[in-house]
Amino acid sequence: MALTGLQIYKLLPQTNCKECGYPTCLAFAMKLAAKQVSLDLCPDASDEAKETLGAASVPPIRKVAVGSGDYKVEMGEEVVLFRHDKTFYHETVLALGVAVDQPEAEFLEAVKTITGAAFDRAGECIAITMIALRDKAGNSTAFAKRAKLIADHSPLPIVLVTDDPEKAQAAADKLTDGSAILYGATTETASAFVDLAKAKKMPLALQADSLEELADLAEKVAGMGFKDLILDPGFVNQAEMLKNQTLIRRIALDRKVKGFGYPTSTVIPEGTDAFQMGLLSSLGIAKYTGLIIVPEWQTWHFMPLLTMRQNIYTDPQKPLQVDGGIYEVGEPLEDSPVYVSTNFSLTYFMLSSEIDASDHPAWIVIVDAEGMSVLTAWSAGKFGGEQVGKAVLASGIGDKIKHRKVVIPGYVAVIKGEMEDAMPGWEIMVGPQEAADIPSYVKEVWLRSAS
Ligand code: SF4
Repeated sequence: MALTGLQIYKLLPQTNCKECGYPTCLAFAMKLAAKQVSLDLCPDASDEAKETLGAASVPPIRKVAVGSGDYKVEMGEEVVLFRHDKTFYHETVLALGVAVDQPEAEFLEAVKTITGAAFDRAGECIAITMIALRDKAGNSTAFAKRAKLIADHSPLPIVLVTDDPEKAQAAADKLTDGSAILYGATTETASAFVDLAKAKKMPLALQADSLEELADLAEKVAGMGFKDLILDPGFVNQAEMLKNQTLIRRIALDRKVKGFGYPTSTVIPEGTDAFQMGLLSSLGIAKYTGLIIVPEWQTWHFMPLLTMRQNIYTDPQKPLQVDGGIYEVGEPLEDSPVYVSTNFSLTYFMLSSEIDASDHPAWIVIVDAEGMSVLTAWSAGKFGGEQVGKAVLASGIGDKIKHRKVVIPGYVAVIKGEMEDAMPGWEIMVGPQEAADIPSYVKEVWLRSAS
């Protein structure tokens, strides 16, 4: 558990010598607790302090990685239960399933579709990052052949979903070391799987019928010298899933049971309908699941899941933002509309995509509002009429257009008067509240005002 400032203070020399650059040991302890400085700054720190603080700085949930380069996927390393307490470090990995008994052409098509399932949202590429090969009928040779087929047609790391160590071995032999997760070992098969995981440098998922058995199994495997583990508590129903995932996270953060100090996973059962699959996946993303294996899917199922995942795993302390200034959407001319908004990137990307959809190229003047959305920025005093007016003039947009009109978001119509005062000679037009209404606004208001 992270130490408080007072707990750290008790470990320091308490001489207030100021060598660390802080006026008192307590002030330094508070900075240490906030992880803003390192203990190295105190020359008199005892060995006990170094040892205790060193242990406390190791994340309670181990980081587990698979794949390499741009396709490397990481899970775990989380330190909090709630995102607003700090941040979540590694977003839930979604692995879409292909089955060993699918016809080859269909199988390959699915592999290519999963690999290409990437979308641009708010300036980030969000994507499916793993392919899960599900074992069904067939022997080791068939399983290995399909694993090789995936590797030959996709750079994404693979989850080898089989409880048969021989099949896992055959498939792993066809793959690059470290490019797959072995999924998964039970108490009975742990020994064989651990040998394989060590040899192939592949993370190993563990499965058990109860949380107690799962923790024991993880400790046993760690005792065998292998710690790149993922914990699958099994799937019964969504209530059990929520309970188990939450319990494991809570206990892991308290460092009470060593066997829970690993990322977790869930396999959504075959035959789950699309609605339920979306529900379970979103539950897993919201509540602590490091890896979700989805057996059956359509690419469109994942748009809302990827969006939700991006929202949850964006660092709340670093809002996504774009730089202030002038942006062009399409090839705007000197008579094109000028929209004004804040530098919250979601706002910017929604606005620009709706302008794009309107078929009327435009200018956007982005005002730096510390990454806040329009209403939040206005409420916080970062998007007042005078500030926005000055920022628009300072942007230089006046040199690019022949008219003198700007469109402000409908939600902040209240700043119109102050902007008019700050921008003499300019017309301040109140646009729609929602970016989605930009296409109709251009036709019904802007073009008429220009004619
Ligand atoms: S250097 Fe160490 S002993 Fe001196 S004030 Fe800082 S924390 Fe205290």
